[in-house]
Amino acid sequence: MPATAMIEAEGLVKRYGTTVALAGVDLSVPPGAILGVLGPNGAGKTTAIRILTTLSHPDEGRARVAGFDVASHPAEVRRRIGVAAQDTTLDELLTGRQNLVMIGQLSGLRRSEAQRRATDLLERLELSDAADRLTKGYSGGMRRRLDLAASMIMAPPVLFLDEPTTGLDPASRLGVWEVIRGMVGDGCTVLLTTQYLDEADHLADTIAVFDHGRVIASGTPQQLKSETGSARLEVTLSAPRPEAVLALRPLLEGEVHVSHDGRRLRAAVRNQDGLATAAVRALDRAGILVDDVQVHQPSLDDVFLALTGREAADDETAAEPEEATA
Ligand code: ATP
Repeated sequence: MPATAMIEAEGLVKRYGTTVALAGVDLSVPPGAILGVLGPNGAGKTTAIRILTTLSHPDEGRARVAGFDVASHPAEVRRRIGVAAQDTTLDELLTGRQNLVMIGQLSGLRRSEAQRRATDLLERLELSDAADRLTKGYSGGMRRRLDLAASMIMAPPVLFLDEPTTGLDPASRLGVWEVIRGMVGDGCTVLLTTQYLDEADHLADTIAVFDHGRVIASGTPQQLKSETGSARLEVTLSAPRPEAVLALRPLLEGEVHVSHDGRRLRAAVRNQDGLATAAVRALDRAGILVDDVQVHQPSLDDVFLALTGREAADDETAAEPEEATA
């Protein structure tokens, strides 16, 4: 565990009665990095965040945040973190701006500084138009963004964001990503949980996949993809030619899926440079005409499925029932 890590956990265990929410979790996030925590429902993500933000005590193990032990120095930790949890903590009878200024002042900012930061965050999170309306009239997505602004009002060195973009429309999600990147650009270290694999792919420097209270895989998005998934080749022929499978065989791994009309072939491939060219040449040598060739790199969806045996919440990929196996 590097001494410079801003978030570090070693052997965290948490039990609720007979439920083991965390079964020995290690994490390490260097300064200025984003760790994306992925995992199916009930994997232990929120429990880990609660321990790291001093809201819950581990039964075993230890954790340090911004250099302070969460168990022995909780006040020091709290002073250095921002937290956007899944349950909102906003005052319904204040406006968005008043909420932010109040939180800033309660945390020790001068009023003028709290106002300045509130205006900046409201603008960055695209809430300027609603800033002076009571929060009780805010939509779910607006509340979520205001919660994020609240977590950032102190410009904390460490941010914990539990599913920061759940329920946001695509444009708002992109806006939130920009704000998070901006915080990291200013030196902030971020741990975020997400159900959206593309979010982890775009934002996170490293990913930890949780399942059943353990980290079952970790690494950069690229490392996880290359370790877990193989690329897929998809070829569309001008006309059905059964011998195409034989011609392509040296490039392929495992089964070849052939569509019912016999024109589309799909298979896992050993990734190599010039793969599409090699596929076209092999088919050309066999006198087979090709309409389309595509090489799909593995996605985090493939990784998640391979690791947990479950599809991520946002995975809309459906099996294609019309296909047979050659
Ligand atoms: P989700 O994606 O649904 O938020 P998660 O990965 O955050 O899931 P946790 O909320 O950490 O998962 O829950 C891990 C396990 O611990 C689950 O089985 C959950 O039911 C259990 N658990 C969490 N908090 C409590 C609690 N306060 N009392 C009892 N069981 C709990």
